[in-house]
Amino acid sequence: MSKGNINVSVENIFPLIKKFLYSDHEIFLRELISNATDATTKLKHLISIGEAKTELGDAKIEISIDKKAKTLTIKDNGLGMTADEVEKYINQIAFSGAEEFLEKYKDDKNETGVIGHFGLGFYSAFMVAKKVEIITKSFKDEPAANWVCDGSPEFTLVEHNKTERGTEIILHIADDSKEFLEEGKIRGLLTKYNRFNQVPIKFGTKKINDPEHEPKTIKDKDGKETKEPHRQIEVDDIINNTNPAWTRKPADLEDEDYKNFYRELYPMQFEESLFHIHLNVDYPFNLTGILFFPKLTQNLDMQKDKIQLYQNQVFVTDNVEGIVPDFLQMLKGVIDSPDIPLNVSRSYLQADGAVKKISGYITKKVADKLSSLFKNNREDFEKKWNDIKVIIEYGMLSEDKFFDKAKKFALYPTVDDTYFTFDELVEKTKDSQTDKDGNHVILYAANKDAQHSFIQAAKDKGYEVLILDSPIVSHLMQKKETSGDGKIKFTRVDADHIDNLIKKEDTVISKLSDEEKEKLKPVLEGAINDSSYTVQLEAMDSNAAPFIITVPEFMRRMKEMQATGGGGMFGMGNMPDMYNLVVNTNHELVSEILNADEEKQKGLISQAFDLAKLSQNLLHGEDLTNFIKRSYELIK
Ligand code: ADP
Ligand code: MG
Repeated sequence: MSKGNINVSVENIFPLIKKFLYSDHEIFLRELISNATDATTKLKHLISIGEAKTELGDAKIEISIDKKAKTLTIKDNGLGMTADEVEKYINQIAFSGAEEFLEKYKDDKNETGVIGHFGLGFYSAFMVAKKVEIITKSFKDEPAANWVCDGSPEFTLVEHNKTERGTEIILHIADDSKEFLEEGKIRGLLTKYNRFNQVPIKFGTKKINDPEHEPKTIKDKDGKETKEPHRQIEVDDIINNTNPAWTRKPADLEDEDYKNFYRELYPMQFEESLFHIHLNVDYPFNLTGILFFPKLTQNLDMQKDKIQLYQNQVFVTDNVEGIVPDFLQMLKGVIDSPDIPLNVSRSYLQADGAVKKISGYITKKVADKLSSLFKNNREDFEKKWNDIKVIIEYGMLSEDKFFDKAKKFALYPTVDDTYFTFDELVEKTKDSQTDKDGNHVILYAANKDAQHSFIQAAKDKGYEVLILDSPIVSHLMQKKETSGDGKIKFTRVDADHIDNLIKKEDTVISKLSDEEKEKLKPVLEGAINDSSYTVQLEAMDSNAAPFIITVPEFMRRMKEMQATGGGGMFGMGNMPDMYNLVVNTNHELVSEILNADEEKQKGLISQAFDLAKLSQNLLHGEDLTNFIKRSYELIK
């Protein structure tokens, strides 16, 4: 028997381990299972190269709880350790590793940057156990060893009569960690961290229908047929799938396999994904994974079903910030890489060359996939556009490299459901929609119903009207306008009267003289008396409405951009809504206003103004009540 002190330099490492990142105590289980997995794969390797003369047998890891003894045991049949190896790997190497790890992070109380926390290793057991025992028998022909440590730097190491190869780690759970003796808790952790572990993990047994048994159909005395119950057998409850889809070759997988994997990964997700991207690279870094484009549902919960990061099939985190570009964080799926440094801070992660390359690779793969979907089946791509556009538009705004690829497949649907690429749109409209100053004006609407009359007016002129309604589209238009040749201008259909949106030659002659106009304007302004409206006199077709309310493009867009971030360069805090009241000076009613007495002028203007507001759904409250009252008076 030997007794000793693990290390002399730090006496209080156990309290430190105990305190370490309180909320993350649960990772001890993942660490111990990782060790058991390593022990198994190492043995497999040694057997394959002829260095271990033993049978691998039924490789598995067993987790068991003994409530009476208050222990949790992690047992493997991997390569095991001799007493010398325990001394070396547990007392020296693992200990100094844990010590170094703690030294690094002990001051980082809220270090959210430590993702995964790999590195604490074996000693993380002391976060939940007051005493830890190792019983281990090496594949080498040496007696088994029993190591016990009660949380002080003192340990004992004695021989043991274990004859089966492998290691048992027995945790005597501390009083304040009793939850880890609950089956539900452990099952939850196994599912969270290890459901794709490389080595099968057994947690208890379960009853299943005996596959050997074919239930007979029995006829009762009335001739009614019933099936006899299926015979049940008890089998190991293996909690993991050791061979998840992302670890397999894309060539070996059917569409159905990806669908099944999506369901396996997110059992609570009932919507199928739109399509998947299989990632697989081994140079200059190792990375596998499958990303899914989800269907965007109304109540899209970004916090749910996020992309999961694994390291060699062990779950690390579902916070992939920094590793996956921002615009792809709405995607779902799995990324698995042994090359992502796990126990470093996020700011470091973002500067890390390998991580930058990974992010670039993912962006490229996604762009390539979208591009091939577009090329191979445009019709289907158009159908999916509404679900994927937010991600693509966001990507185009945030990553120049993605913009360059996406501009070839990003779509611009019209109000009549024709889908143009930008180049197609430009080609189609450049003759008809270029104004007299050479600006190529692209018209769009954000809402078919609300802007119906404006859309109609534009269509009557033969113009194409796009429907652009995603929240960041203003930013994207801005980018398009500034990155092109400067001749492209986006304008929403309700930004002005149609003749002003795309100004051709001034053909309409004004019925009113300049003097009359000068007289009219203050009359209108006085009657309206609302600072959010700017009166604008226009000589238009006499068939056009007398009053039209428009929303100036520039102000509206600035406001929208500010609401979605990034438009703050003009420092307009909370901008009020601004409107133009376009008054058609060629309309009969306007002449009538001009020639009426003051009393009548007021009445006509209020009524026409309210009608214009009504057509834009801008008339509310007291104004609406008064309008209705007034209207009844008129028809009496
Ligand atoms: P790491 O896994 O990073 O090497 P750990 O602290 O988790 O660090 O483990 C320390 C060492 O203890 C391992 O490298 C291994 O040599 C040994 N070890 C731990 N658990 C087992 C096990 N179940 N079977 C065999 N060896 C083990
Ligand atoms: Mg380990």
